[in-house]
Amino acid sequence: MAVCPLSLEPDPVLRGPAGKVSAFGPPIKRLVRNMLDTMYANDGIGIAAPQIGQPVQVFIANPSRRRGEELVAINPQLTLGRSRTIGTEGCLSLPDIWGKVRRFSEVRMKAHDLSGKRYEVEAGGLMAVVLQHEFDHLQGTLFIDRLSWIEKHRLRRALRILACE
Ligand code: ZN
Repeated sequence: MAVCPLSLEPDPVLRGPAGKVSAFGPPIKRLVRNMLDTMYANDGIGIAAPQIGQPVQVFIANPSRRRGEELVAINPQLTLGRSRTIGTEGCLSLPDIWGKVRRFSEVRMKAHDLSGKRYEVEAGGLMAVVLQHEFDHLQGTLFIDRLSWIEKHRLRRALRILACE
């Protein structure tokens, strides 16, 4: 078990585009194990590699919180649906901030699994939101970047404290 320290905003590792994974060997398996341990230790439903300081295109999504149901996505590509939905999001890298974010209600994702095999999933509901949130992490985007101005205004104090740390 290796629970890693979380990278918190404004850590620059959260803000750069993550690099592609080219080898599916033991280092990636170890990274994913550490991400799982860190996600569960912090009661998360998703985590991306940059959040434990690794700028590579790997994330985990598990909206059910049930162990064994985790989706591991390596070098993912997302296709967004048409309809939109608004939901409240939080992030392990932004403790105690919760804001309403507009997302697509359905997405399709192509990715590699831990063994390097390509797969494709279609998702709706909370899974679609988690996939977009985690995919954003791999581009250096955080959910606070997607808040409406009303939400930014509502959260201005928390966001200002964050920027000054
Ligand atoms: Zn996050």
